[in-house]
Amino acid sequence: MTNPVDQSQLQQLWRSILGEIELITTKAEFNTWFQGSHILELKEKQITIGTPNGFAKIWLQQKFTDTIKKLLKKYWPEEIEKIIFTYSKNKNENNYNNSNTISLRKTEISNHSPQQQATIPEFGLNPRYTFENFVVGQGNELAFAAAKAVADSPGLIYNPLFIYGGVGLGKTHLMQAVGNQIKAMLPQKKILYISTEKFINDFIYSIKQNSVNEFKRKYRTVDVLLVDDIQFISGKESTQEEFFHTFNELYQNNKQIVLTSDRPPKELESLENRLLSRFEWGMIADIRTPDLETRIAILQNKAQDKGIILDSDSVVYIAKMVQNNIRELEGFLNKLLAYQQINNTPLTLENIRVIMGNNIKVNQAKKNLTPQNLLNNVCKYFNISADEILSKTRTKHLVYPRQILCYLLKNEANYSYPAIGKFLNGRDHTTILHAVAKLEKEIHHNEQLRQDIETIKKSS
Ligand code: ADP
Ligand code: MG
Repeated sequence: MTNPVDQSQLQQLWRSILGEIELITTKAEFNTWFQGSHILELKEKQITIGTPNGFAKIWLQQKFTDTIKKLLKKYWPEEIEKIIFTYSKNKNENNYNNSNTISLRKTEISNHSPQQQATIPEFGLNPRYTFENFVVGQGNELAFAAAKAVADSPGLIYNPLFIYGGVGLGKTHLMQAVGNQIKAMLPQKKILYISTEKFINDFIYSIKQNSVNEFKRKYRTVDVLLVDDIQFISGKESTQEEFFHTFNELYQNNKQIVLTSDRPPKELESLENRLLSRFEWGMIADIRTPDLETRIAILQNKAQDKGIILDSDSVVYIAKMVQNNIRELEGFLNKLLAYQQINNTPLTLENIRVIMGNNIKVNQAKKNLTPQNLLNNVCKYFNISADEILSKTRTKHLVYPRQILCYLLKNEANYSYPAIGKFLNGRDHTTILHAVAKLEKEIHHNEQLRQDIETIKKSS
């Protein structure tokens, strides 16, 4: 064939291919990589596929060439030897974006949500977290695959599944996705999601109320137990004992257990050995900081969900700026959304730069954030001396700055809890751990705290 094929035929062909690809990818993957893609040309056994940005181009080239080749064979009568991917804005912007398939999926989701929402308190499951809207990339592939396998055959493959990794990287999301999928596929299963802190509180409360038997019944009769942030069980001896028995009971009955933690089991301090060894029985999967490509994919996805329109330069710019935490990435997007709504104008790279100005400084400054610098800046900010903040005095005007210092040492200087303890004149690492955890929680709703931390970071 020497003549180029006409456009409507090409569109039809691509539609068929996308229809099939949609079936084998998640919604997130599909939207990220295929939306806006199109066939530019087909001639002389060679097909050229346009992608809406350079990253999609590379991604499709690397991950989907074979699949597309196979599908071309199925839908095109003549042999095609070569596929070329190229960056090209789609002139026919709406040719697949508004297709029935995507809008159907949206309706499907929104139809289900009220019903799902009603069940949150019962199981602790939040329908917002699904496998479908989890973007898979370097850094989380293993954890995703393990979580998916567990959700497909609960209690049979990896037990327990232990997922660990830094803050805001999707541990809770994956764990909840396991619960949500099992709930959807096997509605008769009893699923319980609980934070470790709540587990501890429930346990203590049950002792006080003389209702330990009820507590045991609650936790030992579920089919799937999801316990989030298990690191908080460190040093809690009686809770560990209780959890040990809960674990055994469930495990022996082939009930699925999923745990998340900010570090691997071996690094959990003050953990009983018998519990440690059980945590290591099944599958241990880590989640690492996503690479740029994955961050871009996540960003594109979330922006689309929120209805924020970003060009590819802006996406790359934001993804380069926010590196360590997907939650932070979401925070930025919310800021942008607010801006877009208030000003009723599309976002340009220029105004994104302005909106994020402060945060860029923070990111650039990170390189200079040595422990000594942080110490100095916290002291200067609160007008106290280094001796005071490092002392054991527990007056209020010192406790707060000290907690902030711990938080910064952990999150900015990447210090471990024991190292922070040492830096603070030999304080116990569990004290540090709790101080950091407390601030990490509070920072989301305590504006004063957030500002204090931001200002100190900026001055560094
Ligand atoms: P963690 O429990 O590890 O601290 P979360 O699961 O709470 O982190 O994730 C923080 C936020 O980032 C959540 O809103 C989550 O949906 C989102 N998130 C993290 N990783 C991904 C991903 N790969 N794809 C989509 N969203 C993600
Ligand atoms: Mg979490």
